[in-house]
Amino acid sequence: MAKTKYIFVTGGVTSSLGKGIVSASLAKLLQERGFSVTIQKLDPYINIDPGTLNPYEHGECFVTDDGAETDLDLGHYERFLNIRTSQDNNVTTGRIYQNVIDKERRGEYLGKTVQVIPHITDEIKRRIRLLGEKGIYDIVITEIGGTVGDIESLPYIEAVRQLNWELGDENVAIIHLTLIPYLAAAGELKTKPTQHSVKFLMQSGVQPDILVCRTDRPLSEDIRRKIALFTNVKLGNVIESRDAETIYDVPLLMETEKLDLAVLNKLNLPHGNKPQLKAWKEFLHKFKNPKDSIRIGLVGKYVELHDAYKSIHESLIHGATHNQLRVDIDWIHSEKLTQKDIVKHLQQVDGVIIAPGFGKRGVNGKITALQFARENNLPLLGICFGMQIAAIEFARHVLNLSDADSTELNPDTSHPVINLLEDQKLDLLGGTMRLGAQTCRLEPNSKSYRIYQTETISERHRHRYEFNNRYIDMFEKNGMKVAGRDVKTNLVEILEIPEHPWFITTQFHPEYKSTVLNPHPLFVDFIKTAYRLSLKKMK
Ligand code: GLN
Repeated sequence: MAKTKYIFVTGGVTSSLGKGIVSASLAKLLQERGFSVTIQKLDPYINIDPGTLNPYEHGECFVTDDGAETDLDLGHYERFLNIRTSQDNNVTTGRIYQNVIDKERRGEYLGKTVQVIPHITDEIKRRIRLLGEKGIYDIVITEIGGTVGDIESLPYIEAVRQLNWELGDENVAIIHLTLIPYLAAAGELKTKPTQHSVKFLMQSGVQPDILVCRTDRPLSEDIRRKIALFTNVKLGNVIESRDAETIYDVPLLMETEKLDLAVLNKLNLPHGNKPQLKAWKEFLHKFKNPKDSIRIGLVGKYVELHDAYKSIHESLIHGATHNQLRVDIDWIHSEKLTQKDIVKHLQQVDGVIIAPGFGKRGVNGKITALQFARENNLPLLGICFGMQIAAIEFARHVLNLSDADSTELNPDTSHPVINLLEDQKLDLLGGTMRLGAQTCRLEPNSKSYRIYQTETISERHRHRYEFNNRYIDMFEKNGMKVAGRDVKTNLVEILEIPEHPWFITTQFHPEYKSTVLNPHPLFVDFIKTAYRLSLKKMK
């Protein structure tokens, strides 16, 4: 196989320009042209991974099959490309330093002074090349988090400079994403921030090959020429990235702007087949032409920041679009709303999701929502903490175990329906959870089985606490059934109420596996049923 080629995506002027979506869109186009592509994200923060980060800081923590707790951009990569990513696809400065320091402690630097250059940059380069060396990718796209000019980003930019030099010009393409703001008072698009940001890159020895310019209006030929002249970038490689109506438009917009061809020309690769994006366009057509809409409540304590529930939000869109519906989400704050207000919200939705979470804050709001949905036949999907709180609510209100709880919330409860496994140690918070893909066997006559239409499934986990199997009999006799168990450990993976029109709660996170082309069956069926019931209600 030919050598792997590398694309680097840097960002300038400001964050939030959509580097993740542009990278995923470019990868999508290259994939359609017949190349095998993967994407990697380098995050310049000192945390080892985003696992211990508060979702308010950085949005959701995305989990891969191999149990890596990663940046939410990896979710976009998987959803756009229909591929699986892994620990190798996300590296933080913390992890880079940890590896270097571990090596130093083992004496592997043979008495040398350990420095940012070459030791940190060498480790960055090693991590960048790890995916390429697997021999399965024609192209590896590396997205560098942060903004050029940040102190934290410097070693990464230096590593890009060195790799460009080592790998050779035709094996590397460097894309710089930048902003062209419109100044209303002047009535003009301004190129100066872009000029400065490219200059900064050049001072670090990196000349971008392609500029992707985020703008809210078309870039005229004149503006493109001006940008090209000041940045040493070919005119044809100044790409317009206009604000899009939806992220799903971006691959098509990038195709119109020929971003994929600019990259292939730089890398001296054949163009392959013109992207058809057939299935993608079908999805987009349904997305833009819904036959009706549905309203889903999402109960969680981080709802002010929608990115904290990114994968759930996207999975709802996949599930709704598959049913040719538009989904409107009612973000319901589990901590700040009173019981009465939560119920008021729930009376106006067609279905409800109880979000994952940690700790006491907002638990009562979730209990209220669960009780309402259970007693009023409102379709309900509970995810992870959502399943655990469903068990607590059921134990308290149906089994009459009034102090039933999770030991996470009340270590002294006399009915620990959710607790820790004996062998779980809790002295560290990072890296001590049950993480990643595990296999679950479904009960043949459960609703979950009818939805998945297969006996064994693989789903991803991110939690510490488990349903306490001592209570299974009691739950089952009273109407809440175990619909899935882990094949190895027998741990409860799904609790459902067969008498309810749609009440399914999962210990795993189905939202991590839904993609544009393969919407998750639980979300598809949840939306389908919620919609069917909403029509009935109207009659
Ligand atoms: N806090 C719960 C646990 O640790 C649930 C975690 C989650 O919802 N991801 O088990």
